[in-house]
Amino acid sequence: MTAGAALPERLEAVRRGIADAAAEAGRSVDEISLIVVTKFHPPRLVRDLFALGVTDFGENRHQEAQAKAAELADLDITWHFIGQLQSKKARQVRAYARVIHSLDRESVVDALASVESVVDCFVQLNLTDDPARGGVRDADLETLTERVLATSGLRLLGVMAVAPVGEEPRAAFARVRAASERVRAIAPAARYISAGMSGDYREAVLEGATHLRIGSAITGIRPTAG
Ligand SMILES: *Cc1c(COP(=O)(O)O)cnc(C)c1O
Repeated sequence: MTAGAALPERLEAVRRGIADAAAEAGRSVDEISLIVVTKFHPPRLVRDLFALGVTDFGENRHQEAQAKAAELADLDITWHFIGQLQSKKARQVRAYARVIHSLDRESVVDALASVESVVDCFVQLNLTDDPARGGVRDADLETLTERVLATSGLRLLGVMAVAPVGEEPRAAFARVRAASERVRAIAPAARYISAGMSGDYREAVLEGATHLRIGSAITGIRPTAG
């Protein structure tokens, strides 16, 4: 990212980067969705990006996301919730998020059950050995997937992951692809992969990612650490 580059240029550069990665992977760019992560940035930035044609935005903290969604209710935005979810807040997240990327335990899945509406969701994988990190343990992937499939009001899109610091991203995303295949063996429609951020989206695209969550490469440096 060039320091001081304007928002339209940074957005365009990332779009070009995605197109290049898709071409390198022999994939159609049309099967790849860009979600711009706007955490810590003011609603004004979301408006500016919306005016540039961005419709999908990601947030990782419930209170901030809820406030932004309310303030920007005049725009037809698809909000993606990408942060760790607490069961007691899960229902409130459902109220504004059209897609939830971070299902990682049964209590959260159960809290999201609904007979009134359907929300799209991903099961998040923990690619580290640290249980404090978001995501389901590899060994529990099938069990959690079955739970989502048995819960009314949830439509499973696939798997989501963050590449661990210190692992080569391509290798991490190859593990995500393998996990995706395990989920598809149980739920053939759940073929999507949410993976890839500012620093590693090329590698994610090469390993089949369909939903990229890109923040700082587009928004610039976040106002506070995130
Ligand atoms: C912040 C965040 C991103 C975007 O990170 P950048 O490095 O700014 O692109 C993607 N996914 C999750 C889960 C995040 O919390």
